[in-house]
Amino acid sequence: MNNKCRIALFGECMIEMRGQMFGTMQQNFGGDTLNTAVYLARLGADAGIEVSYATQLGTDAYSDAMVAAWQLEGIDVSMVARDEGKMPGLYTIQVDDAGERTFYYWRDMSAAKDYFHEGQASALEDRIESLDAFYYSGISLAVLPPEGRERLFSFVDRLRARGGKVFFDNNFRKRLWMADADATKWYDRAFATSDMVMITLEDNQAIYDIADEESALAHCYSLPPDEVVIKRGVDPTIVRIRGMEPIIVPTFKVPKVVDTTGAGDSFAGGYLAARLQGQPPETAARSGNKIASIVVQHPGAIIPREAMPVFFFS
Ligand code: ADP
Repeated sequence: MNNKCRIALFGECMIEMRGQMFGTMQQNFGGDTLNTAVYLARLGADAGIEVSYATQLGTDAYSDAMVAAWQLEGIDVSMVARDEGKMPGLYTIQVDDAGERTFYYWRDMSAAKDYFHEGQASALEDRIESLDAFYYSGISLAVLPPEGRERLFSFVDRLRARGGKVFFDNNFRKRLWMADADATKWYDRAFATSDMVMITLEDNQAIYDIADEESALAHCYSLPPDEVVIKRGVDPTIVRIRGMEPIIVPTFKVPKVVDTTGAGDSFAGGYLAARLQGQPPETAARSGNKIASIVVQHPGAIIPREAMPVFFFS
């Protein structure tokens, strides 16, 4: 891939409230693909990587504040749609005495679900010619109704036919697929139409009902994309490039893990930043592991800008 490139990421960003139930709560916003967009924008801007985030919000003050914050991160927001009848989704994070986190979601009515309005082209579809690449996740897929997913896949097909690259992260939330008898069918399609996929093994085990890690790994090796990136927490990352021996890339040791929220999302930002600059997969995995190792040492998914590493590819 060339140095100057434009990528769009699609998904849902929600209002986050973290703290004590009916007590003091800290407000923020978050969402897997948005987190990745932030890290990719931070790491890729100097190299000419232009990042657009595609989603739908309301016209309320919270939606306005989110858009303003994304712009400050250097993210292009011209693909953000607004629906005055809707609001962003919301989730709370309760942390118990042992540091264990529980998430509660209010997202059934959220604006992002309707990004692909019936009979109306979205900015993402309208501006397909401007894009070199596209990234989305299993959560992006899950929040859409079936018609929206069809539109997404049709967009993906058209982008690839034009030579664009498509990247997919298997992020899985069982609860979001409750109403759907067959999540595997949708995941199969996403895998079959991606150039590169990022996998968390436990998620693939849950999606495909695979009993053990060894079988999950074998399943990953058989996936259709040429490039399969397997994130394994603190264990070494595995990159399987078609026709080659798997590449094993160690993670970075950290003195203390504070919060793993956003680890995988930041990994994706680091990996994509490197790949979109033409770096090889091994360098990209190291770059992903580097940023993720810093993120796990901070609370929350998005670390302060001052904590960002100065990147060099080696
Ligand atoms: P996800 O957040 O998507 O489940 P992982 O848990 O595999 O993904 O974490 C993504 C990346 O975060 C890993 O590849 C690794 O670089 C980093 N990471 C996660 N946990 C740790 C840890 N305990 N120590 C160091 N790095 C970690």
